[in-house]
Amino acid sequence: MSKARVAVIGAGWAGLSAAVALLRLRHQPVIFESARQLGGRARRVEWDVGGDTPLALDNGQHILIGAYSSTLALMATLGIDTGKVLLRTPLHLESTSGLRLVAANLGAPWHLALALARARGLSVHARVRIAYLLGRARLTGWRLTHDLTVQDWLVQAHQPQQAIDELWAPLCVAALNTPFTIASAQVFLNVLRDSLGASRSASDLLLPIAPLDQLLPIPAAAHIEARGGVVRTGARVTSLARRGKTIELAIAGAAAETFDGVVLAVAGHHVPSLIEGQPWEALASLRAQCEAMTWQPITTIYLRYPEHTRLAVPMQALKENTGQGDYGQWLFDKGQLGGPSGLLAVVISAQGPHQDLAHEDLARSVGLQLQRQLGVDGAPLSWRAISEKRATFACTTALQRPEVRTTVNGLTLAGDYTQSDYPATLEGAVRSGEAAAQELASQLAQRER
Ligand SMILES: Cc1cc2nc3c(=O)[nH]c(=O)nc-3n(C[C@H](O)[C@H](O)[C@H](O)COP(=O)(O)OP(=O)(O)OC[C@H]3O[C@@H](n4cnc5c(N)ncnc54)[C@H](O)[C@@H]3O)c2cc1C
Repeated sequence: MSKARVAVIGAGWAGLSAAVALLRLRHQPVIFESARQLGGRARRVEWDVGGDTPLALDNGQHILIGAYSSTLALMATLGIDTGKVLLRTPLHLESTSGLRLVAANLGAPWHLALALARARGLSVHARVRIAYLLGRARLTGWRLTHDLTVQDWLVQAHQPQQAIDELWAPLCVAALNTPFTIASAQVFLNVLRDSLGASRSASDLLLPIAPLDQLLPIPAAAHIEARGGVVRTGARVTSLARRGKTIELAIAGAAAETFDGVVLAVAGHHVPSLIEGQPWEALASLRAQCEAMTWQPITTIYLRYPEHTRLAVPMQALKENTGQGDYGQWLFDKGQLGGPSGLLAVVISAQGPHQDLAHEDLARSVGLQLQRQLGVDGAPLSWRAISEKRATFACTTALQRPEVRTTVNGLTLAGDYTQSDYPATLEGAVRSGEAAAQELASQLAQRER
């Protein structure tokens, strides 16, 4: 093992991925996590429903897709049997509006071509225009000459209103957590390239059937500690300071510690305060980039119904009509996803008029939406809403995202907000963690030469 002392700040999926990669690169990292639990924005939450044991929930419903190659590879490294924690299904989009699009059992691109040919809830004209747009995107290598909003891109591509309302706008907000009116068309195309545009298995949906901490954080921490790494929860780093070639971390309620290398794996909005007031002139542009980013919320409303409540499919889109108070966008039947029967989860991504409602009013309104659109019986027995106000960065056009490599030797960045093809996703976080670890290890190796 290397003698260099290495720290990772943050035990979200990026920090954990960085720590596992550092171990592979023969370093023993010390992880500092300010929260009492691991996982960051993809973590377990408990709901006391009055029984002996609280109900295990997630801070928000997450979906993975087959294209998440780095995440799946990391899970394999950790010895996780993905079949026990993820339900893999072919791409299946179904909406209470009548849309139904199911990937065919054929190789790419025929899985999608046949899906479109058979799709329900879209006119022939809309299906032809969607197929044309995807075909043209493939021919141009999924690259735009300049970035523009998804809305402008769709208008330029003569997409009918039905295709926009039923398919593109909901897909954009689900994938980028940014309204299509301001979202980056280039990042949306990157996601389409690696999902709809890639092999059939890349477009598979992977729905968690275990609490999020079982998917990666707990096995990752066990893997790290078994190999000599250290995971400290409830350990908040308050600032970083340069000391010669090393970096000193100030830790709330504990003595400062010095490291030869640091992976800073906190969310982008936490970065400026950590490097504030330090002689970090070299990081001025990093601070400016983080401060220029804006953030989008995600709200998940869990509703408990009688146990016999069961939906036709585990996941479906809900028809949005904010004029009628139909704010819910996606609905998950947790009873079909490893949770208790009768537990439903409704997701509302990105900014919108739902933010003006108190949680109680939002839960009531979403319950009424389920009655109207699916005939779900009566009001829920109980509910719990979780709003993550800064769930992801707003994935807008021509956004400047910081590189994993900083201008300070020995300090690298990991996190879903760092420069990549992807919007804020688990896969982006995992990839950035690996890249940050590689970069740090190579800088430390160069120092030794
Ligand atoms: C509700 C919701 C739904 C989502 N749905 C999906 C989805 O369906 N699919 C998908 O791919 N992605 C989804 N995402 C995005 C995904 O969760 C994130 O992209 C990913 O978890 C980000 O991981 P990260 O490690 O980059 O950052 P974080 O998870 O934010 O990790 C940063 C960690 O640093 C810690 N930290 C911060 N400051 C300090 C400090 N000073 N000292 C020590 N520790 C500190 C934090 O506590 C945190 O644990 C969703 C996100 C949310 C919130």
